[in-house]
This record gives sequence, C-alpha cells and structure tokens, in this order.
Amino acid sequence: MTAFVFNEINFDNHEQVVFASEAKSGLRAIIAIHNTKLGPAMGGCRMWNYATEAEALRDALRLSRGMTYKNAVAGLPIGGGKSVIIANPKTDKTPALFEALGEALERLAGRYITAEDVGTSPSDMAYVAGKTKYVAGLGDRGDPSPFTALGCFVGAQAAVKHHLKRDDMQGLVVALQGLGHVGYDYARQLHAAGAKLIVADIDQASLKRAQEELNAEVVGINQIYDVQADIYAPCALGATLNPDTLSRLKAKIVAGAANNQLATADMGEVCRQKGILYAPDFVINAGGIIKVCYEYMNTPEDGMDAHVRRIGETLAEVFARADSEGLPTSVVADRIAEARFKN
Ligand code: NAD
Repeated sequence: MTAFVFNEINFDNHEQVVFASEAKSGLRAIIAIHNTKLGPAMGGCRMWNYATEAEALRDALRLSRGMTYKNAVAGLPIGGGKSVIIANPKTDKTPALFEALGEALERLAGRYITAEDVGTSPSDMAYVAGKTKYVAGLGDRGDPSPFTALGCFVGAQAAVKHHLKRDDMQGLVVALQGLGHVGYDYARQLHAAGAKLIVADIDQASLKRAQEELNAEVVGINQIYDVQADIYAPCALGATLNPDTLSRLKAKIVAGAANNQLATADMGEVCRQKGILYAPDFVINAGGIIKVCYEYMNTPEDGMDAHVRRIGETLAEVFARADSEGLPTSVVADRIAEARFKN
C-alpha cells in the first residue's frame, strides 16, 4: 500500500499526526502537530465539509506547517499545529462533537493547543474547554482582530518607509479589499494617518459605513485590482496574488491581513521582479495570534502592544535582507522562521 501521510505533498516532517474519532458524537478529526521546538503547538480548529479524507489531511498538514512559521517569526514561545473536523459547520455541530475533540486534545497532554478558526466559534470552543484546558481564544477576553489590524498598520508603515522612502502616509492611496473585523479597523487607522481609501466588499452596509466614516471611495469587487493606488491591502480572500491580478495591480506595496495571499509560492518572485514590495502574510497578520498566545499563557498584557508593533521591525528586517540577498520577501521570511525553529 502506498503511504498516505508521508507521501502527501504538504507533509514536512510533521512530528505527529493524530486521527481522532468518537462513535457517539460522530467526531472525525485530524490533529497535525508540525513542530514543537519553540513550545507547544498552537493553531485553530477548522470545521469543513471536506469532500475526502485526503483533502482534510492536506489542509491539516499545510495549515499546521504555516502556523510553525507564523509563530516562530512572531517571536512567540509556541510551535505550530492545526486540527480539522470533517463535518458540515452549518448542520453537524453538537456539544458532544466538541467535547469529544476536547477529550482527544486531553490525550495529547498539551502538545497541541487549539482555538477557533474557519467554521468554529468561541462558543464551540467553550464545549472543548469543558474537557480540556488546552484551548485558547475563548472570546471571554476580547476579539484578536484589532491586534491583527494594528500589525497590518505598522507593517504598512514599515513597507512605506522601505519602498517609498517616506515616514508618513499622508495622501497615499490604499486599495483595501474586505472591510471585515480586521479590514475595517485597519482602514480606520490608515484614514487617521491621512491615507485615501478605495474599498471593495460584498457587504453593502460596510461599504456605506466606510464611505460615511472614512470618506472611502467604493469600487466593485473585481475592480479593486485595477485602481490607481500605492498600497494594495487584501483583507478578505486568499490567493489574490496570482498572474492575473499581478498583471493588473498598480500598487507598489502589498500589505494586508488575508492568509495565503500568494496563489503559488513563485508569486513572491513575480512580485519582486515587478518591483512590488510584498509584506509576507504570515508576518504582517500575526497580531491576532500574539494576542491569543498572551492570553493563553497569562503573560502580562502590558508588553503585548509593543510585541505586536515589533511586526514593523521584523518586516523592515525582511525587506532589507530581501534587497541585499536578491530574494523574494516570502523566501526571506521563511528563512527567518526556519533559523528559529530548526536550530
Ligand atoms: P471577516 O469575515 O470579518 O471579514 C472578511 C470581509 O471580506 C467581510 O467584510 C466580507 O464581506 C468581505 N469579503 C468577502 N468576499 C469578498 C470579496 N470577494 N471581495 C471583497 N470583500 C469580500 O474576516 P476577518 O477576521 O476580518 O479576516 C480577514 C482576513 O484576514 C481573512 O483572510 C483571515 O483569514 C485573515 N486573518 C484574520 C485574523 C483575525 O485576527 N481576524 C488573523 C489573521 C488572519
């Protein structure tokens, strides 16, 4: 029989992959612990109606690896992991299902700490917490999104300083996609710093609010890639940096919160060749995990704001190294992470 996990394209020497099941609740979950060199693996629990188990495994392997890189670059004392529940988040949620997940985490004795993710919510995590203490971001101490937005803002400032040689944002035009939890807060900070906003969203109420409160110009969801702007800020979807959009973007900086912005890894090099400074997504959007980690570890929160702001310094280092080594910023960010968790 062909090996199923070890041959999977996203397998990257993961320390442990657990297939967890429980008959009564119908739980079928995969817990992938990628690396615990820097501390217990932390990463959210995704609930998705995967068409096949292979698809669920691929997601768990890919996402857990990504968490190792994100947590390492953010300077957090945690490793990378992720769990996926194979079920429909709209129809299959029960308290028993999340309690069974909690029992599975308890058996791992703290090697992996979960949190909410796509398809799960703080209220689902409360059931997990009934069975284990290895769960973070229960929502009782606030939403991490404002910290993600702050990280994006300081990241954009670092990019502007490096690429446009400017210390301020006055008059810069930002094409911002997605006015959700992170995007709106980020937009508010950009507006306060004097930037002009061009925004796109599928939610009409958010667009109206941005027009009224932030004097934003609204364009269609497919037009956002074509507008004349200095910064493109993807805060909605993944994979928006692809051959089509990169041939259309006028912006010379990409600085946004969305996960997995590069449709394929080689898009980092395409950005470099086009003179577009790409702030790697897993560096710039780490504010939320910093907040969740501080909360979970009961770290005094007076240093948290400064920790999130260090995202700007980290990006400045990434940009400078990318220039001097002639490499895409995405590759440099990977190398910084690897130097931390592989040694
Ligand atoms: P959200 O669901 O609150 O907001 C997403 C917004 O995008 C919504 O307003 C939605 O209407 C809009 N949208 C959906 N499809 C769109 C389209 N085709 N064009 C334009 N807008 C569209 O999500 P969020 O919490 O603000 O997160 C935004 C992104 O940042 C996601 O990719 C998320 O994975 C990533 N992220 C979020 C956090 C966090 O702390 N919330 C942390 C790290 C990464």
